[in-house]
Amino acid sequence: MTLAGKTAIVTGASRGIGRGIAAGLADAGAYVLGTATTQGGADGISGMLGESGKGLVLDVASDESVAAFGEAIADGDAPLILVNNAGITRDNLALRMKPEEWQSVIDTNLTAAYRMQRVVLRGMTRARWGRIINIVSVVGSMGNPGQSNYAAAKAGVGGYSRSLAAEVAGRGITVNCIAPGFIATDMTDELDEGTREALLARIPASRLGDPEDVANLVVFLAGDASGYITGETIHVNGGLYMA
Ligand code: NAP
Repeated sequence: MTLAGKTAIVTGASRGIGRGIAAGLADAGAYVLGTATTQGGADGISGMLGESGKGLVLDVASDESVAAFGEAIADGDAPLILVNNAGITRDNLALRMKPEEWQSVIDTNLTAAYRMQRVVLRGMTRARWGRIINIVSVVGSMGNPGQSNYAAAKAGVGGYSRSLAAEVAGRGITVNCIAPGFIATDMTDELDEGTREALLARIPASRLGDPEDVANLVVFLAGDASGYITGETIHVNGGLYMA
């Protein structure tokens, strides 16, 4: 129970990787505030976490929603672990990319990290301890046709994280990114069979990853043992891309 006594926020904890991360942090002893975009999703998170946390509604693409979330949790212990996991794709070739497809992906995957820092940074600074873990993507490093918006957002989070890491390292706060390859979730369920087969042929481990493959690293980065690691992007991709 290495995270006992710590409160963690996990955005997008209703499904997929975020759900695995919330469960992993709770297993390690943290009290987890997991978020979903709907009340039904939040209730599902509360049901999964039981005594170890609760689900709350949050839209990371909205300044108002993030501010309301900050107020809703202000009475509890200051969250000293933040996992920015919520993310979306709106794929299209660059030539056909609509402004809405570009902007919604930037808002949800990149600007959200800036919005969420305002919820946690003061408490972390006061505690002189904090862990910010941003879930990016292998696509932000290697690029992917049809995902210029998504790759820009994820690569942007990397630059943001390295800058923030340098600003707050002296306060005992680390900021790192995890870049998953292809993980079996709703997001990758959208791939057609042909694309999936072609993808598997490129992954040396010959399988998609599981949410737990990412959650295990989150738990390590959230703990005391990782305190001298900051500003890094660590890839979890079965060998698909060796940075
Ligand atoms: P997913 O199964 O599609 O789940 C997305 C999660 O994000 C859901 O909990 C969803 O909440 C939440 N979400 C979506 N829009 C939101 C918003 N505006 N505000 C707050 N929450 C929002 O996705 P996933 O595959 O687990 O991906 C999780 C993260 O890993 C994302 O950042 C993704 O880019 C990254 N990633 C995934 C893969 C992969 O292969 N799956 C690979 C690399 C990186 P609702 O349930 O309420 O909609």
